[in-house]
Amino acid sequence: MNLKETIRSIPDWPIEGVVFRDLTTLMQNPKSFAYACDLLYDRYKDKGIDKIVGIDARGFVFGGVVAYKLGIGFVPVRKKGKLPGSTIQETYALEYGTDTLEIHEDAISPGEKVVIVDDLIATGGTVGAAVKLVKNLGADLLECAFVVELPDLKGRDQIDGCPVFAMVEFE
Ligand code: 5GP
Repeated sequence: MNLKETIRSIPDWPIEGVVFRDLTTLMQNPKSFAYACDLLYDRYKDKGIDKIVGIDARGFVFGGVVAYKLGIGFVPVRKKGKLPGSTIQETYALEYGTDTLEIHEDAISPGEKVVIVDDLIATGGTVGAAVKLVKNLGADLLECAFVVELPDLKGRDQIDGCPVFAMVEFE
């Protein structure tokens, strides 16, 4: 299965000069969607994971399926203002300005083994904030998993010490 072929690249979106890697085409293709989810399931099925943490919003799609297949719980990390219960927050830098991610403070118990899932790692700012959130709740973070990595942007440097798994790379 060539996953890369099922990802559509859209030039100059959301701004001029950016090539957006559109994973909706991968998700719409039942074979590639199942392949990506199965890869994560096979990778973690014997690792004793307690919870999958998915990042808003495309991390919910892949992370939700993997949590279901593993028979474990799913925890959403959401953009500010979306979670109804008591939360902890992390603010991170964007190219212009900042953004804030939240997690329910009772979503993970200290010592629980978790994997963070998102569709793509670019600069690593988003997953860096998610890593801080789960660590602040005392989680034992095994790995951060992505369908796509843009290695030129060195996102891994934002989560120093945490292993990264990615299925596909784009320059
Ligand atoms: P970062 O914080 O690593 O710079 O950006 C990663 C976050 O932005 C992820 O949550 C991801 O969904 C989104 N993102 C940034 N660039 C792209 C892209 O080219 N394609 C997709 N699908 N998501 C992107």
